Amino acid sequence: MRLADGIRKHGFRKWYERELLQSHAHLAFVFLCTIGILGSLEAASSARSMGDRASDLLTTLLCSAAGLWALRRYLLLLSTAEAVANQANCPECTTYARLNLLQASEDGRSVIVGCRKCEHRWQIDS
Ligand SMILES: [Zn+2]
Repeated sequence: MRLADGIRKHGFRKWYERELLQSHAHLAFVFLCTIGILGSLEAASSARSMGDRASDLLTTLLCSAAGLWALRRYLLLLSTAEAVANQANCPECTTYARLNLLQASEDGRSVIVGCRKCEHRWQIDS
């Protein structure tokens, strides 16, 4: 979910929590794909016919592709969430994550926020 939409719908803390949960769900999927790769390689090594071996190797390729996609999503979601979280401290009073969304760019990746404590405004980019 884009930063502006996430803050508008859930607030910053919930958006951040959801991004972390989503990224770690992708990491769990990477783990499952790794098990799939190892299992299909094991099955391919003991396959009796070429058809079985080909289907096992195809499964290996599919698990590898899905695992690489999930690993990429995990890293992207985690790095974006961490980059945004590092900008969530109010530059004026250093309060963390107590902010209101004031304005969003058209693509929703850059927002102007205001501190709930001191009303200072600053920009957060994702
Ligand atoms: Zn402040």
